[in-house]
Amino acid sequence: MRLIVISNRLGVTASVNSGGEIVFAPSAGGLASALNSYLQTGRYKELGIDDYLWVGWPGMEIAPELRDGVREKLLKEFKCWPVFLPDEVMDRFYSGFCNRTIWPLFHYFPMLTSYDDREWECYNDVNNFFALSLAEIIKSDDIIWIHDYQLMLLPELIREKFKESAVGYFHHIPFPSFEIFRLLPGAWRAKLMNGLLGSDLAGFHTVDYTHHFFKCALRISNLENNLGKIAHGSRVTKADTFPIGIDFDKFNDSSQLEDVRSEIDKLRSSFAGKKIILSIDRLDYTKGIINRLDGYRAFLERHPELHEKVILLSVIVPSRVKVPQYQAMKKQTEEMIGEINGKYGSIEWTPVIYQYKSISFAHLAALYTLSDIALVTPLRDGMNLVAKEYIACKKNTDGVLILSEMAGAANELTDAVIMNPNNRESYVGALEKAMNMPYGERRARLDSMRRRISEYSVCEWAEDFLGSLLGVYNARLALRSKYLNPERVAKLAGDYARASKRLIMLDYDGTLVDFCPLPENASPDDELLSILKKLAADEKNEVAIISGRGRHTLEKWLGGVKMDLMAEHGAWVKTAAGDWHATGVFNTCWKKEVTALMRKFAVRLSASFVEEKDYSVAWHYRACDIELARERADDLRDALGHLARREGLDIINGSRLIEVRNAGVNKYNGALNFMKSDDYGFILFAGDDATDEDIFRSISSESYTIKIGAGQTAAGWSLNSPAELLELLKKLSSAD
Ligand code: UDP
Repeated sequence: MRLIVISNRLGVTASVNSGGEIVFAPSAGGLASALNSYLQTGRYKELGIDDYLWVGWPGMEIAPELRDGVREKLLKEFKCWPVFLPDEVMDRFYSGFCNRTIWPLFHYFPMLTSYDDREWECYNDVNNFFALSLAEIIKSDDIIWIHDYQLMLLPELIREKFKESAVGYFHHIPFPSFEIFRLLPGAWRAKLMNGLLGSDLAGFHTVDYTHHFFKCALRISNLENNLGKIAHGSRVTKADTFPIGIDFDKFNDSSQLEDVRSEIDKLRSSFAGKKIILSIDRLDYTKGIINRLDGYRAFLERHPELHEKVILLSVIVPSRVKVPQYQAMKKQTEEMIGEINGKYGSIEWTPVIYQYKSISFAHLAALYTLSDIALVTPLRDGMNLVAKEYIACKKNTDGVLILSEMAGAANELTDAVIMNPNNRESYVGALEKAMNMPYGERRARLDSMRRRISEYSVCEWAEDFLGSLLGVYNARLALRSKYLNPERVAKLAGDYARASKRLIMLDYDGTLVDFCPLPENASPDDELLSILKKLAADEKNEVAIISGRGRHTLEKWLGGVKMDLMAEHGAWVKTAAGDWHATGVFNTCWKKEVTALMRKFAVRLSASFVEEKDYSVAWHYRACDIELARERADDLRDALGHLARREGLDIINGSRLIEVRNAGVNKYNGALNFMKSDDYGFILFAGDDATDEDIFRSISSESYTIKIGAGQTAAGWSLNSPAELLELLKKLSSAD
């Protein structure tokens, strides 16, 4: 088993050195270093993964004649597979839809979001190009792990080509609420969701992002989740929360390194006697750099006694340098720093020391180790690794983390001084709290956060995600092992042909026909009727329809076929030769009260309605606003609870309906009416939902039990859709 990691940028970046040679260096940035850290430990082997390959753009355009050489070197030396794309395309893709649409929108900056059709097309093209490049290398048993918002369409594109592969996707930035996501044009948002739903597992940093994803699946794709799993067609997508960790040991042990120690000594002598407040960010509007400077200015204004005693050390890492908006942001930042230093500074004291550059690990680790306060205050951040790295460097030194509640890390680092980055007073209050915090409290807070991030480092994060992906994949394989492929159908058909007495029992909705928004529209078509007639006409066959529908509907639609019918989940049966009869004496005193209650709910929810049967009552909400319907359904179940206990009723959660019936009535008990002898040579039962599981579980293990659709089941076999079942029945009905 091989792990294929896919990200926009490879783990190494190509560049041309002074001698004109193409050289490679580890890529900068949180994602690349996190994955590099994990992959280099080789710990993936513990999951049964033998090797890995990292697929992505190598960081520059490579001339066609050089590509073979570059590919070979990358493969051999770095286990990397390059996706060759021209700089111009990469630029339009990355600076376009990625960073002018998804990035601002998903970070809750709708006013900065552009909605450009050509950029959307380019995003599609690049995702397609990734899929094409992957087609050359993917093997059927590869585990595929796609990273981040640049490749949201890729899971489905891979799925189309490699139906059986395990596909995971991790989203490293915030996943926004539906109200934000819906600002995208309808076709785009549907396609992005569909893209993500191609994965077996979608991972997010916080539980809020995961919930937002579920809500978008519900509102945009009309798909519900059940215990974190979304079933769609024949597939299941699980979504879960995996807060990314850091390479804890690397930061924790950094002060033992010679170059880190010498940086620490230098900094210590430069800033002796001063409290150092540290901030480190990429230059980006999401990081709230201007707000932070404004907050620091207010703090200095409020506390003249601290002048000359504090320093804000602001490291700003260049990012998206060609984009005019980022250039303007840099200018504004520098002007503001100049203003603060001009107003409050002196010859002896510079209140803000600013560095606009990437810094070395030694310098970074020294700054973390020595700073008294880390001021990490993004306006919105998927996770924020700087906060975790700061804590990890506090093995022997002391400090306070001030953390924006808008960073994903705030969900985990609850012992930080949590603040709101939109409000000036929050900066002042947080800085005052940090400055005045007693040593014991500082240490206790640091220790508790250090425990968390040491226990769930980047390796645990990756293992957690990959373990979960393998779990979903194996469950799918187990289900797949039940799939009635042509070989198995041939065996089934052989058993059918050999048997002189056969029983065929079929659920109706979702099994023989697809669901319709209005149940009365799900009548059988001519083809289905003809297949049923043909099966029923074979004297070796006994055919039965096992349904929860009312008997009048079944009679109207299927009464013309000489077969057994079961209505209302077994309360009524009609044998091929006889007439309808109730299978027991059922209490109906409760019906009036239940119907009245359900009618009230029907009035409160547009497009829902009540169906009254002889011995049961159902409230349908298939055509409704699904989210409101689910809330109303919970309320209804709650309202019915007491009555159900008092009267001995079952409350059934059907497919977008709630049905109340007498306890003890179920499809298996009803089906016993059709199992008239014990010498059937062939029994087949097909069904699709929870009400059919009674029969799947109880019927003899030699029978062919077939579940239609995805999901856990006690059935022995599975098919994807009613169409596939009809194909099978047609084959049987045409057999001699
Ligand atoms: N970092 C870097 N170069 C620097 C300073 C910092 O690569 O000069 C790293 C830092 O150690 C951290 C990452 O950049 O791992 C920033 O990650 P974060 O999640 O805080 O923000 P992002 O830039 O991913 O939005």
